Amino acid sequence: MTLVGGGPGAPDLLTVRAWRALQSADVVVADRLGPVEILAELPPHIRVVDVGKEPGRHPVPQERINELLVEHALAGAHVVRLKGGDPFVLGRGGEEVVACVAAGVPVEVVPGVTSAVAVPGLAGIPLTHRGVTTGFHVVSGHCASGSSDPQVTGANHGSDNSGPLDAAALSCVRDATATLVVLMGVRSLGAIVAQSLAAGADPATPVAIVENGSTPEQRVTRARLEEAADVAAARGVRSPAVVVIGRVAADGLLEGSRERRLAGAGV
Ligand code: SAH
Repeated sequence: MTLVGGGPGAPDLLTVRAWRALQSADVVVADRLGPVEILAELPPHIRVVDVGKEPGRHPVPQERINELLVEHALAGAHVVRLKGGDPFVLGRGGEEVVACVAAGVPVEVVPGVTSAVAVPGLAGIPLTHRGVTTGFHVVSGHCASGSSDPQVTGANHGSDNSGPLDAAALSCVRDATATLVVLMGVRSLGAIVAQSLAAGADPATPVAIVENGSTPEQRVTRARLEEAADVAAARGVRSPAVVVIGRVAADGLLEGSRERRLAGAGV
């Protein structure tokens, strides 16, 4: 089985290695996110099994996806599991590897361009920027996709900080030198904002929400943290979107110095 990360959606953000793996497949098990257009370009003998997921609605449960991969591989097919972004970034790719290895099916991993980094980048937002931030932290805004270990889950939802963010994410959102990147965060944006403000985050922290990154529908919404949920609701922001919280999300960050911007604006 080859576990392939397909990038955020644009077909030309697929890696050459991923494209070669797809061409050599007998069966491709694909998701809703990622470069779905590419599937129509595969030779007709390649069978495509769509297990497409939507937020809150998983037409094919993860356990069944794991079984499908194992069944096809044990039947002798070269199975490619095509996932959006990178398979090991909040994509349950690890579980698919575990299921295959347990069944004696060898696995090769082809890393992908993760939306966590690429989607902000496509919108001109660097996750680190010299003199602004020195690191970033990527989390899921969707509690249900957190750890299934009750001890870890308990730590994530401690009574003091109850909400979608865990302690590390909260400390990141309070830290002006770090960037917080939230995937699957559209539905819980209101809770994320409330929890961050309650934990002492600066209400003026810039937030950028990038929907449908790398596709013709890409759209960026910017707001201050305290108003981010209201602005997103008013603009009808929908999943899939990457939420960036931190100083790098400020509009015009890469447009030169304030003096040059003012000069450019004729001020
Ligand atoms: N493994 C994937 C992430 C899977 S979780 C990766 O590395 O990119 C799914 C979440 O990823 C979505 O809810 C959204 O937050 C984000 N996402 C994936 N593709 C996206 C895109 N093209 N534009 C914006 N967000 C995207």
